[in-house]
Amino acid sequence: MSVMEGVGTGESRGSTDSLANMQLPQISVIIPCFNEQEVIDALYRRLTAAATSWRVPYEVIVVDDGSQDATWALLTEVHKKDPRWKAVRFSRNFGHQTAISAGLQLAQGEAVVILDADLQDPPEVVEKLIEKWQQGYEVVYGVRRRRKEPLWKRFAYYAFYRILARISNTPIALDSGDFCLMDRRVVQVLNAMPERNRFVRGLRAWAGFRQIGVEYERHPRLAGQTQYTFRKLVQLAIDGVFSFSVWPLRLATRLGLLVSTVAFLGVIFTLLQRIYADWFDKYLGLRPVPGFATTVIAILFLGGVQLICLGIIGEYLGRIYEEVKGRPPWIIQETLGVEHNAKNKAAKD
Ligand code: UDP
Ligand code: MG
Repeated sequence: MSVMEGVGTGESRGSTDSLANMQLPQISVIIPCFNEQEVIDALYRRLTAAATSWRVPYEVIVVDDGSQDATWALLTEVHKKDPRWKAVRFSRNFGHQTAISAGLQLAQGEAVVILDADLQDPPEVVEKLIEKWQQGYEVVYGVRRRRKEPLWKRFAYYAFYRILARISNTPIALDSGDFCLMDRRVVQVLNAMPERNRFVRGLRAWAGFRQIGVEYERHPRLAGQTQYTFRKLVQLAIDGVFSFSVWPLRLATRLGLLVSTVAFLGVIFTLLQRIYADWFDKYLGLRPVPGFATTVIAILFLGGVQLICLGIIGEYLGRIYEEVKGRPPWIIQETLGVEHNAKNKAAKD
């Protein structure tokens, strides 16, 4: 706490004063940023231009997820120029989903929009999301019509969403990422969830309320490199599966049953072969052989199955361990113009 209050007082105080005179924002836009120095300028221009059509007071909360480049310096400039743009800086890289969750805690608007920094989710589409919200939907999520990304990635995404939809206990919309608008009521539900391991699009689906998708074209990244390495993407997929499904645990049971059945049949066959050795030899040409190969295969196979099952249990156990430790999900190092409002604190407690 003291860290957050102690830093940046000069600038933040000036802007909070002027903010106090402004109306409370209707819309909060949350933008997670990790090493995005190339896009901040364009992002500011495109979003500000798009926002003129919303005709409501808004705020933008950029969560700097421990960037190593000039992102924070650029954000400071933007904040000075336009106090509607606020920012928090994590003490290190905590991950995309955590950054979004922090933004949700800090947002004050009646509706919250989640947007990627790299302009893959076009700010111009936000207007359509707001329209649907005004028609009474609490969750309006973007559905990617076409992805301009490499074939293997498109296929991986395609397969992932379909597998997840099959095995998840919560119906999660196909091809919808984090780009969405959520009403304050939904944000409060999400904020009240104590989970550390957050798969935001899953939690959003879990929350319920009236939800609707809006199709849009997902553009390629404007500049810079993807911050999602292959490893991070796989981790996100694993989080999605293990946080929203107990199917892998059942898979372990089913595999076990299957292997046991096969083993049982094998035992019967071996016994019969021993007892009716002559018959087997005469009609099937099978003689009891010293079963070295069989033994080795059986042991290796069973060993493999057991290790897989242990791994599956480990995934859940690890998650339980993470939750039980109860460490804060993120640490804020610096803030620019962000107020810790009572609304969200109440939701958190
Ligand atoms: N991001 C983040 N922390 C991370 C990785 C990514 O805050 O550890 C942000 C990133 O700055 C961007 C968004 O999450 O605004 C999506 O990341 P990216 O565009 O790199 O992923 P992709 O679109 O390639 O899946
Ligand atoms: Mg991107």
